[in-house]
Amino acid sequence: MSPQCCIITIGDELLMGQTIDTNSAWLAAELNALGIRVRHRVAVGDVADDIREALDTALAWANLVIITGGLGPTADDITKPLLCEYFGGQLTENTEVLNHVTDFFTRRGRPMLERNRAQAMVPDVCDVLFNNVGTAPGMLFKKENQLIASLPGVPFEMKFLFSNRLFPILKQQWPVAPLLHRHVLTAGEGESFVAERLVNFEANLPTGIKLAYLPDLSLVKLRLSAEAHLEKELDLAFIRLKELVAPILVYEGEKKPEKALYELFTVHGITLSLAESCTGGHIAARLTEVKGASTYFRGAYIPYATDSKHQVVGVPQAILDTHSAVSAETAEALAHLTQKRFESTYALSVTGYLEQGDHDNAVWIGLCKGDKRLSKKIVVPYDREKNTQLVVNTAMTMLYKWVLLEEQAPTL
Ligand code: AMP
Ligand code: MG
Repeated sequence: MSPQCCIITIGDELLMGQTIDTNSAWLAAELNALGIRVRHRVAVGDVADDIREALDTALAWANLVIITGGLGPTADDITKPLLCEYFGGQLTENTEVLNHVTDFFTRRGRPMLERNRAQAMVPDVCDVLFNNVGTAPGMLFKKENQLIASLPGVPFEMKFLFSNRLFPILKQQWPVAPLLHRHVLTAGEGESFVAERLVNFEANLPTGIKLAYLPDLSLVKLRLSAEAHLEKELDLAFIRLKELVAPILVYEGEKKPEKALYELFTVHGITLSLAESCTGGHIAARLTEVKGASTYFRGAYIPYATDSKHQVVGVPQAILDTHSAVSAETAEALAHLTQKRFESTYALSVTGYLEQGDHDNAVWIGLCKGDKRLSKKIVVPYDREKNTQLVVNTAMTMLYKWVLLEEQAPTL
């Protein structure tokens, strides 16, 4: 039987919408890869009764409970004394944690307060999960065949403790085969249309293989999952899936578009530059999230105002006057001039209106490689933030597909 997990995240800020609970999502993905099913996720405030109630409920069925948050040195963080009392222990000073906390402050040249010293007080009924990257130790409680882990709320500390302390323990306790996944990214069709392509495929999937749709503004990621003993069937189904979505397929695998572009450009030794008008640098920001992006990404213009399209990038005034700043001609001219200025192999441009005004909310995306040009109009139906995301996704996947075609085509 695969172990069942409940994640409890603690913190008033989570319930007020001030902090987005990224810890649960990250933990769920890690646990899933370990073959541990997350059945419930619950967020509670820094409120003793609510934390106790969440624990009572979880321990009624879960083999594993992972708690994050409420371990800081401030008065609002009550998780540690509460867990100590809940599991019937006493807070006692742990010399190893105290040395670590003292060292943490000494190395930073900062004074240590009594409340920091108190972080070395841990329940005598738990195993300490040593925190090398922060001052709040993690804790592991055992109750018959159940494990209860308490980790700090700060995401990078939580990740450190999970990966380096808890992960090896869980792997040993529940050595189950993880689920296998196969991913493919599609672009340009909404999930209902993608589902229409896959009606028969989905109805005839072998037992034990599941298909999931993960939509994200013009993109739909498809995931096939199965237990390890069904690997052959999974691979066959994946081949069929790729055939069925071939016209809208961008690439296979779970990577993000910025990573896929990095790999595609570096493998071919080619380069890219951008002219981003309406997206104001969002595409460049995404591309530069990948370490080493400078090997292919040469730079970007942000000619946001209409006159800078002419004055800075050099789009002929006649094009702007005749066709307007939001047109196929302007998008292609922007891409062409940018490619020449940056001396890159390819250039990508975007120009458009992200909100309804006295014009349509439409965006033109332009691509250029030497004398070859391509442009495409997309209508953006959402609010400004979502439309930006939609344009970024569409532009990046359109670029990927075009470059793949160009680089595979034999040069004459
Ligand atoms: P704490 O362990 O409660 O002191 O948490 C410290 C900080 O971690 C909080 O101020 C939040 O910014 C962050 N944090 C807490 N819980 C979460 C969570 N579930 N997801 C993301 N960040 C969190
Ligand atoms: Mg807190």
